[in-house]
Amino acid sequence: MRITIVAGARPNFIKIAPIIKAIEKKQNEGAGISYRLVHTGQHYDKNLSDTFFEELNIPHPNANLEVKSGSQSVQTAAIMIAFEQELLQNPCELVLVVGDVNSTMACAIVAKKLNIKVTHVEAGIRSGDMTMPEEINRIVTDSITDYYFTTSTWAGQNLLKYGAEPSTIHFVGNVMIDTLHQNLDRISAPVFWKEFGLENGNYIILTLHRPANVDEEKSLINLLEGIDSMVGNKKIIFPIHPRTKAILGETNLQLKNILFVEPQGYLNFMYLIKNSFAVITDSGGISEETTVLGIPCFTMRNNTERPETQTIGTNTLVGTSIENLEKFFSAFLQNGPRKAGIPELWDGKASERIIDILLSKK
Ligand code: UDP
Repeated sequence: MRITIVAGARPNFIKIAPIIKAIEKKQNEGAGISYRLVHTGQHYDKNLSDTFFEELNIPHPNANLEVKSGSQSVQTAAIMIAFEQELLQNPCELVLVVGDVNSTMACAIVAKKLNIKVTHVEAGIRSGDMTMPEEINRIVTDSITDYYFTTSTWAGQNLLKYGAEPSTIHFVGNVMIDTLHQNLDRISAPVFWKEFGLENGNYIILTLHRPANVDEEKSLINLLEGIDSMVGNKKIIFPIHPRTKAILGETNLQLKNILFVEPQGYLNFMYLIKNSFAVITDSGGISEETTVLGIPCFTMRNNTERPETQTIGTNTLVGTSIENLEKFFSAFLQNGPRKAGIPELWDGKASERIIDILLSKK
């Protein structure tokens, strides 16, 4: 079986790393499976791309479509045009896409129209928020997927509601958590650890990159100022996403606790998360990682496509206003962290399950 694996953006790289390892393990055991890795070039900054390939030992992509930035439609179209050529020149039996970025949806459509089977890893999650480009990507991708791999039984139920055939849905666990398990003993402190006086539990991690939080400069500044004054004398480490950085431009902010740093590589970032007091974020993936690491997470969104991080894990949805965040954060300071657990099958073995199932489909 020849599989083309697609990856385009930072969270994709983290998800494909253990899938490739699982394929290579099967190859070493003599299974008839091979892969070709296609990087669409959606994320191309070294900090968001190359660093993850190096740190997670992901093989150099066989092809880079180099689509770079653009509006939603320009980027989606560019990926489709380039990926069609890629598949025509390098035929395969299966295209594997992960997550919910534009590359996920664009490549799924191209594959399906060339009559190639599509498999979607992290299928079926839904925020119910159609203003998120990711939600549209999820729905479109899942509407043409042949084999679904899910992180929860809830995601499977969503797929059934949309009419998926039950035998095509496989609840396997979470590949992002596979990567976490595989790298926990390799994580390391970033260079600024000592310089900033960081110690276990004396700082907060902040990440913000979703359009609803960062695209309006005034409200972003209001949010940052509010967070800065909310946390007493705790330091706040803010690895700033290029999108957020571009909005702030040269704005001179007077912040006493927030320390801006570049987007971190995976090993430094996981070290920072694991040793933090709490995390404030609008990321989906980070709410999964904090759940497994038992770190309190405050998600600055009105909805989540990963409800198990809230019902089972450490995540609290706080909406997008600073007032709400302050309310939830001061309750946390008073009452301490709540009891939390780890969702079923988030055990580091999802990728192996996926490859076993795909091999059984031959
Ligand atoms: N991440 C990282 N360095 C950073 C910020 C995030 O390694 O400075 C990792 C993070 O641990 C998670 C992934 O990137 O695994 C999430 O990416 P992002 O927030 O961009 O995407 P989302 O999860 O919101 O789709």
